[in-house]
Amino acid sequence: MRTSQLYLSTLKEAPSEAELLSHKLMLRAGLIKKLGSGLYTWMPLGLRVLRKVEAVVREEMNKAGAQELLMPAVQPAELWQETGRWAVFGPQMLKIKDRHERDFCFGPTHEEVITDIARSELRSYKQLPVNFYQIQTKFRDEIRPRFGVMRAREFVMKDAYSFHANFESLQATYDVMYKTYSNVFTRLGLKFRAVAADTGAIGGSGSHEFHVLADAGEDLLAYCPDSEYAANVELAEALAPATPRGAASEAMRDVDTPKQTLCEDVAKLLGVGIEKTVKACALMTVDGQFVLALLRGDHNLNEVKVSKLDGLGDFRFATDEEIRAHLNCPPGFIGPVGVAANVKVIADRTVAAMNDFICGANKPKFHLAGVNFGRDLPEPAVVADIRNVVAGDPSPDGKGKLELCRGIEVGHIFQLRTKYSEAMNCLFVNESNQQQVMEMGCYGIGVSRIVGAAIEQNYDERGIIWTKGIAPFTIAIVGVGYHKSEAVKAAADQLYAELQAAGVEVLLDDRNERPGVMFADMELIGIPHRITIGDKALAEGMVEYVARAGGEMQKLPLDGLAAKVQ
Ligand code: ATP
Ligand code: MG
Ligand code: MG
Ligand code: MG
Repeated sequence: MRTSQLYLSTLKEAPSEAELLSHKLMLRAGLIKKLGSGLYTWMPLGLRVLRKVEAVVREEMNKAGAQELLMPAVQPAELWQETGRWAVFGPQMLKIKDRHERDFCFGPTHEEVITDIARSELRSYKQLPVNFYQIQTKFRDEIRPRFGVMRAREFVMKDAYSFHANFESLQATYDVMYKTYSNVFTRLGLKFRAVAADTGAIGGSGSHEFHVLADAGEDLLAYCPDSEYAANVELAEALAPATPRGAASEAMRDVDTPKQTLCEDVAKLLGVGIEKTVKACALMTVDGQFVLALLRGDHNLNEVKVSKLDGLGDFRFATDEEIRAHLNCPPGFIGPVGVAANVKVIADRTVAAMNDFICGANKPKFHLAGVNFGRDLPEPAVVADIRNVVAGDPSPDGKGKLELCRGIEVGHIFQLRTKYSEAMNCLFVNESNQQQVMEMGCYGIGVSRIVGAAIEQNYDERGIIWTKGIAPFTIAIVGVGYHKSEAVKAAADQLYAELQAAGVEVLLDDRNERPGVMFADMELIGIPHRITIGDKALAEGMVEYVARAGGEMQKLPLDGLAAKVQ
C-alpha cells in the first residue's frame, strides 16, 4: 500500500487522558480513536494490526481442531437466568430491553449461549469432544475503563468452549489449549508467562492465565525459576486499601429497579466481586452472627449450596426475615435503596468481624472491593499463601525461591467441569445408553488487549516496534525526493511492485513530505524494516536499510534486494 492511499493520522503529542505508554502510542500512531469511555474505533492502520492478531489466533485454534462459529452479541436474559448469572454477574453486564420490554444483555461472555447450542446439537458421546470458538465483540461495563484498548468496555475476545463425555477428555483438550496459547503468544513475538490462576470467577477446578510480561501490567505474578511454580498474586492487588464507600455508591448507581431477591440486592449493593459468575458476597449467618461472606466460584446466590469457607466453618444465607430484623426494617419495607443505606454500615462492621474471625494478625485482610470493584476475589487459602510474598521467599512447592514480575492478562483457560452443563441440563447419551452431564472447558484470549500489550513490551522513544507477527506492514520504503527525482521514483516503484508481487506487506511512503517527517512517521507506526531510496546512494546502485528494532544503517545493493529482505 502507498501512504497516499492509507489514512494515516499521526500526532506529535498524545491526548492528555492517556496514562500508559502503549495507549499514548496507539493514539499518536493513529491506530485507534476514542468514541467514549472504553469505546474505541479501530482506524485502518490499527485494524490491520488487530486482524494480524486475529489471524494468528484463528490459525492456531484451527490447527488445534477447534471450530469457528459466530454467536450473537446480544443474548436473551432467560439463558442467564437458568444459570443464575443474570442476578449475580453484577454491573459489568450491560442489560438492555427490546421493544417488547424483554430483557437482554450485550454479551460479556458466552458460556450460556454455547451451552444452549450444545444441549440441542450434541446428543451422543459419538459427537464428543467438540471445541467451538468465535472471535467477537464483548461488552463489559468496566468500572474504570483505562489504558485504551487494554481495559476497554467494548473489546474483541476469542472465546472457545469445549464439551466432553468425561473429565479425561476435558483434560486432554485443556492441555491442547494450553499448548495452543503458548504457540499463539510465541508466534506473536511476545514475552509471556503462564500462571496458575484463581478459578473463582468462572468456577471449575483447573485454570491458567497467560500474561504478557510488562512493568505496566495490572497483575502481580510470583514464579519460581527453578520449577514450574507460577501464580497470579492478583490478590495482593485485589486487597489493596479499600474504598468501601466508593464501592457502595458505585453499586447504588445501578440500583434503580426492584430486584428479585434480597441476596441479589445485597451482593449488588456491596459490589463485591460479582464479575463473571458468582465470586460474590452476601450477608450470611454463622452462629447467629452476621458476616459478610465471600463465596467460592460455583455458588448461585439464589440457590445456595454453601459448604465451607476455609476456616469459617459452616454457614448459611441469612433469610430475608433475618436480614430485615438485622437492618431494623419493617417487613416488606426493604427497597434496594433502603438496604443500601444500611448495608454500608453493616459491610464495614462485618468485614472487620470477618477479618478478626478468619485472618490472624499476619494474614491478609478482606475488604470490600473498591477500585478493584468487580474483580475476582481470591480463595482465602490462596490469599494466605501468596498475599505477602516478596522476591526471595521460598516457593510453595519447596523447589526454590520466588521471583516477582508484573503481567497483562491476555489469555485465560478454565476447566469448567459441569458448572454450566448441570445448570442448563446439557446432557448426552453415553456408551451405556444413559444420560450424562457433559464436562466443559472454556478458553479466552483478549485479542484487542494483545495489541496494547504488545506495544507495552516493544517500544522506544521514537514509537512502536512491532514484532514480525503483528506489524501492519513488514517493510516501509521511503523515497527521498520521490516527487522530484525520476530515478528515485522509478526505483521505489519498482521495488514496491517486486515486494508486492512476492507477497510482502509493503508500505511505500510516497507523500510529498520532508524526509524527517516520513522517517519519524514510519518509526512511530513501528514498521519493522525500512528501506530508504535517495539519489546519492542510488547513483551507486545502493539503498539504505535499517531495522526498526535497532542496529546500524546498512547500504545494500538495489539489485536483488526484493528477494533478500523478505
Ligand atoms: P481482567 O482480570 O483483566 O479483568 P478477566 O479475568 O475479567 O480480565 P476473562 O473473563 O478471563 O477476563 O476474559 C478473557 C480475556 O479477555 C482476558 O484474559 C483478557 O485478555 C480479555 N479481557 C477481559 N476484560 C477485558 C477488557 N475490559 N478489555 C480488553 N480485554 C479484556
Ligand atoms: Mg475483568
Ligand atoms: Mg482476571
Ligand atoms: Mg481472566
